[in-house]
Amino acid sequence: MLKLKNICKSYNVFKNKSIILDNITLDFNKNELVFILGASGSGKSTLLNIISGNIKCDSGEIMLDDVCVNKLSDKKMNNYRSNVIGNIFQDYNLIEYMSVIDNIMLAFNGYSNSKKIDDLLKKLGLYEKKKMIVSRLSGGEKQRVAIARALINDPDIILADEPTGALDSKNSIQVMEILKEIAKNKLVIVVSHDINLANKYASRIINIKDGKCEYLPILDDKSILSKQKKRKNKYMSVLNLAIKNLWLKKTRTLFTSLAISLGIISMFIVSNLYYNFSDEIKKLENDVVSVFPIAISNGEFELLDNNIKSSNNKIIIK
Ligand code: ADP
Ligand code: MG
Repeated sequence: MLKLKNICKSYNVFKNKSIILDNITLDFNKNELVFILGASGSGKSTLLNIISGNIKCDSGEIMLDDVCVNKLSDKKMNNYRSNVIGNIFQDYNLIEYMSVIDNIMLAFNGYSNSKKIDDLLKKLGLYEKKKMIVSRLSGGEKQRVAIARALINDPDIILADEPTGALDSKNSIQVMEILKEIAKNKLVIVVSHDINLANKYASRIINIKDGKCEYLPILDDKSILSKQKKRKNKYMSVLNLAIKNLWLKKTRTLFTSLAISLGIISMFIVSNLYYNFSDEIKKLENDVVSVFPIAISNGEFELLDNNIKSSNNKIIIK
């Protein structure tokens, strides 16, 4: 359905060329929920933006069935962006001071069909809140409004860029369940860095690394548990080895520990001595200064004692 052929994309930053996508070729089918994983800055959003036609690739082709998307005229490209693609973002991209229904209607390209819109709102559990101002909704509800907006023109492809990034685990699962349902008759591509969600919901997992794409195996709960167990066993065996090693070389260990302890104790003694010594020096200074109770500031004399008077830069002591 959607094919990416030899996609290359680089950015020029301060005259340095940085290659983000390096000759990427991928195939996507309808009714798939594909996860794209990768470290931050690996190019996940860039790839989604190239698919959605929001940014141009340097070379390569995006094929939607037999149509080469990156050769479309501006008018057809606008149609592709708003009717073929539905976007969902991490931070929802809603207009906060507008109502749920107004946010959705802003994206709607068809003729007003209140039944269709109401059905969609009911499906997403938003019907009761359709007149509410978006700023009063919870994060999970806002993301459901964003999903409704992405679905309103009945696109073939849903692109979700970190759709659960700002949500707690309960709302993340709710959003993923909705996307799973949508993927029954649309292509859904989800960018994420949550490997657990990917293992639970993806039909395929693609990982972007150093500009290239690789497929990751999908692990079920059992394999995840056995992987965690293996990792734990590995740590335990390293710990056991370390303890065994210490026991085998016990004389050396004993002397090393003694030397370290002596070192720490002598550092402690030296620092204590230093502080006591400087305290004594300060006390001595104060005693000596208090014998001469005169302070001079800005060339004038200050009266510190009834027996001392100041006049015309001269000190008179009675
Ligand atoms: P991801 O979504 O995987 O975190 P992005 O696709 O957003 O990564 O970005 C990939 C890299 O490209 C990052 O290093 C980012 O700084 C850089 N990048 C993104 N957009 C631009 C741009 N318009 N100009 C220059 N560099 C950019
Ligand atoms: Mg991103």
